[in-house]
Amino acid sequence: MQKLHCHSCRKELPKGTLKYIVEIKSFADFDGYLEDYEGDVESGINELLEAIETMDAKALEEDVAMERIFIMCKACRDRFVEDPLQTGRPAAHGEEAKGTIH
Ligand SMILES: [Zn+2]
Repeated sequence: MQKLHCHSCRKELPKGTLKYIVEIKSFADFDGYLEDYEGDVESGINELLEAIETMDAKALEEDVAMERIFIMCKACRDRFVEDPLQTGRPAAHGEEAKGTIH
């Protein structure tokens, strides 16, 4: 059987070890606003459809939604959730963040 390793530090994660699944889901947001299209809308749609036909299906799909799954040891999971965007700034914790965005 293939041995599990932490996706971040590569440490082996033997059976029964505490390990974490980290799922990252990203999908295109639609704010209900469509950019004004200058020019003939019908020819614009045709251009778009032609562009889509020449695009790789996988690339097209990933433009809309992307999902990644990582297995991590506790240390890597803790480090990741503290600063997932690697900004050097600690992430706000749930309750702290609430009330600041209203
Ligand atoms: Zn690790």
